[in-house]
Amino acid sequence: MSPDFSSGLVPAVVQNAETGKVLMLAYMDEESWTKTLESGRAWFHSRERGLWEKGATSGNTMEVVEVRLDCDLDAVLLRVRPAGPACHTGAESCFFNETG
Ligand SMILES: [Zn+2]
Repeated sequence: MSPDFSSGLVPAVVQNAETGKVLMLAYMDEESWTKTLESGRAWFHSRERGLWEKGATSGNTMEVVEVRLDCDLDAVLLRVRPAGPACHTGAESCFFNETG
C-alpha cells in the first residue's frame, strides 16, 4: 500500500519505535517515499531543499523499523531507531515548545 500523493506532499510523523515518543514532522513525496522504503532510512521532501535524508549532514540518521499509513492514506507514520537527536537544536524531539 502507498500514500495518496494526488494532492501533493504527505505529512510524515516520526516516532521513536522503542519509546513511542513523537520526534518530528516532515513531508514526503513519491520520490522520498520510495527512497525510504529502499534504503530503510528516513528520507523527506521539502520545498526549499527538495529530496533530503534525515541526518545526512548531522549524522543523526534514522533507521526505519516500521512504516504505517493512516486510515485514508494521506499521512505516514515512520517508527524509527534514531542515531541521535531528531532536532537540529540537539533536542531529542522537535516538540519541546510548551504553550500557554
Ligand atoms: Zn527540530
